[in-house]
Amino acid sequence: MAAKILSGKEIADAIKGEMRVEIADLREVHGFAPCLAVVRVGDDPASAVYVGNKVKTSEDLGLVSLHHHLSDSTTNDELLELIRGLNANDDVDGILVQLPLPPQIDESKVLEAIDPEKDVDGFHPVNVGRLSQGRQALAPCTPAGVIELLKRSGIGIAGRHAVIIGRSNIVGKPMAMLLLQENATVTICHSRTRDLQDIACQADILVAAIGRAGFVRGEHIKEGATVIDVGINNVSDPNELADLFDGEELEKRLAAIEKRGFTLVGDGNPKEVKRKAGAFTPVPGGVGLLTIAMLMRNTVEAAKRRRGLG
Ligand code: NAP
Repeated sequence: MAAKILSGKEIADAIKGEMRVEIADLREVHGFAPCLAVVRVGDDPASAVYVGNKVKTSEDLGLVSLHHHLSDSTTNDELLELIRGLNANDDVDGILVQLPLPPQIDESKVLEAIDPEKDVDGFHPVNVGRLSQGRQALAPCTPAGVIELLKRSGIGIAGRHAVIIGRSNIVGKPMAMLLLQENATVTICHSRTRDLQDIACQADILVAAIGRAGFVRGEHIKEGATVIDVGINNVSDPNELADLFDGEELEKRLAAIEKRGFTLVGDGNPKEVKRKAGAFTPVPGGVGLLTIAMLMRNTVEAAKRRRGLG
């Protein structure tokens, strides 16, 4: 049977639709709209695109959106001063500092300076701790989006063996905590894991968060498993594509490289994932789209909790 494609777009659109209604309700009934402040430092082109999308989606849904763009030479103290101001501003419900930051900035100091109640990225140690204790927390958007995608696609989590490849603070570790909360049996693999393939192919749910195009191949996947591909990798070498795609999709990808110099590929080998998995998320069009939707939801949640409504 053909593997089921788990569309991130449909689910992200549904979550955004729910947020639009909730934000309109907060405006009408409680007289305020949640406010998200996004801070970008420097001119990293990918960050500019991510921040642009976050600001646009916020405005589309009716959130109040503040955008602070600081120069590449911003100091630690200047950034911390801005964060202190946003923490103290009672109208601001969510603060997001776009990563990566320039090298002179101490990233962990900055993330720890954000008020945990406004930490809509869920990276503050207080939220990380709350999440690991199974308490109410603002959870990181990408792994929280994966849980929504599994639940809304009717894929059972409780009692299943979930294997995560990757142990970053942004994806792998919070993914493990969230799957554990949903009563999965969780294994985390990383670059020092022995016999990774043997472990991966025991998974009912395999989450790939590695950052290597096409890493997960048929031999990593149990027949019929659900494969969640978090990876977003730029591939610019046309020779790499023949191993990843075939038919019309290969033509489309080659055309993308010709036109803009690269194509987006996940951590799974799409040809082989399709052959072995029961269900999988495509790249693009899968997990990536849920991240912004969950950021919107975290902002609404933070606003409600801060104002005693949640
Ligand atoms: P990261 O911080 O670089 O972490 C990568 C993880 O993969 C590390 O734990 C590393 O192990 C592990 N790894 C690397 N090579 C490996 C190998 N050969 N075998 C086994 N494990 C290996 O990356 P990240 O921030 O978690 O991101 C992972 C991917 O997800 C990237 O492609 C990123 O672009 C994407 N991403 C997507 C979204 C989204 O919105 N969809 C959000 C965030 C990230 P060690 O810890 O041992 O080094």
